[in-house]
Amino acid sequence: MQRYSIFSLARNAFSNHQSWSKAWRSPPLKNHYDVLIIGAGGHGLSTAYYLAKNHGITNVAVLERGWLGGGNIARNTVTIRSNYMRDESIPFYVKSVELYEGLTKELNYNLMYSNRSMIDIVQTYPKLREIKRRMYHMDLYDSTYERIETDEVRRRIPPLTGGGPDSRFPIICGMVHPQAAVCRHDAVAWSFARAADNLGVEIHQNTEVIKLIREDHNGRICGVETNRGIIRANKVAVVVSGHTTSITDTIGLRLPIKSFNLTAFVSEPVKPIIDVVVNCPDIGVYLSQSDKGELVIGGAPDPGQSFRRDIKQHVFENAVCSMLELFPAFKRLKLMRQWGGTLDIAHDATPIVSKTDIPGLFVSAGWWGGFKAVPAGGFTLAHLIANNEPHPLIEPFSLGRFRGLDFVLEAGTTTAT
Ligand SMILES: Cc1cc2nc3c(=O)[nH]c(=O)nc-3n(C[C@H](O)[C@H](O)[C@H](O)COP(=O)(O)OP(=O)(O)OC[C@H]3O[C@@H](n4cnc5c(N)ncnc54)[C@H](O)[C@@H]3O)c2cc1C
Repeated sequence: MQRYSIFSLARNAFSNHQSWSKAWRSPPLKNHYDVLIIGAGGHGLSTAYYLAKNHGITNVAVLERGWLGGGNIARNTVTIRSNYMRDESIPFYVKSVELYEGLTKELNYNLMYSNRSMIDIVQTYPKLREIKRRMYHMDLYDSTYERIETDEVRRRIPPLTGGGPDSRFPIICGMVHPQAAVCRHDAVAWSFARAADNLGVEIHQNTEVIKLIREDHNGRICGVETNRGIIRANKVAVVVSGHTTSITDTIGLRLPIKSFNLTAFVSEPVKPIIDVVVNCPDIGVYLSQSDKGELVIGGAPDPGQSFRRDIKQHVFENAVCSMLELFPAFKRLKLMRQWGGTLDIAHDATPIVSKTDIPGLFVSAGWWGGFKAVPAGGFTLAHLIANNEPHPLIEPFSLGRFRGLDFVLEAGTTTAT
């Protein structure tokens, strides 16, 4: 793999940047692999990388119906955090943040990882109670949540001028999560793709999986049918975030997930005004400022199930009105772009990283706020595929929890995805 550095940058400047080698290959499609991964998003690509790096499994193909990194990984608001509620979840997200911190070096790719910290604006007492519970749980797992008083909240977030004593929801206090960060989303997909390709993994874009195929005699998964023909494999992982059911339905496998639309939008660029991620869980909006100066703003998912990727007017209005309650000065900002993505959410708002009842078939789904989970999701799914046994961090995330009613309820912790 060509190393990226100040020296390679300078060397390539002499040839007008015409001599860079391709970041990944486009090899011919074979008709058999040890492992097929459906979906070249963050999770599919990181799984492929860790399969090759940690388990020496390199006869792997990642199949992507569009272009690499064009799904939710390209559409998210890049918040990385580990402030979850349950004992089952926190260690997983702590591990993910840890892996993120080392990725730029490990993958030799500038991910523009920026440890910003996140401030939750608390405006109701039920939320304060919930957040205090989280604080105590997180304390056990080296993830931090610290209370700060309203004056300090306003000092750290200068444009926060709303939420005064006479407002609908006066600000009670703030909770700071210092480990929170932001990171360039495309770079996450591209860096994992490049590193996986370098270890021998094949990435096939414009290759849509139409259905899964099982052996007639034992029901085991044996491959997939694609728009480029049938590809056989010993193991298949469905890692298609938002579209999981449209693939698992092809063999009658029903999963306890539903697909919803989540949207975001950005303002015109302005001078630096906010250097933390601001989350307002009581009114359902969160924002941060990108390196280019745009405010990146997100709200809650549209509660109606759908596969749409645009934004409904009332969902947009809810998020904007909530933001203006706390940041009235932002009403003069022009919005530049909006977009959406499809999330598949499990009933308990916790991901599913699991074997299925069909031998050889694995799923990684239910990623509501799955960008932060890309490294740990891939790391643990690769372990599961390689060993046929879950990594301890994802044991609670198996499909078995729906049979045993061992839910990992995280719905209250997801406003800032
Ligand atoms: C607006 C928005 C904001 C978000 N903000 C955050 C955030 O701040 N923090 C956070 O942690 N998370 C956030 N998320 C969630 C996060 O983006 C996703 O949970 C995560 O990206 C999902 O994993 P992925 O990257 O593997 O998915 P994707 O990038 O969607 O990858 C799945 C891939 O599968 C492909 N595919 C689908 N069907 C097929 C098929 N039949 N054959 C072949 N390929 C197929 C798709 O084209 C896609 O490229 C946000 C999501 C949205 C929509």
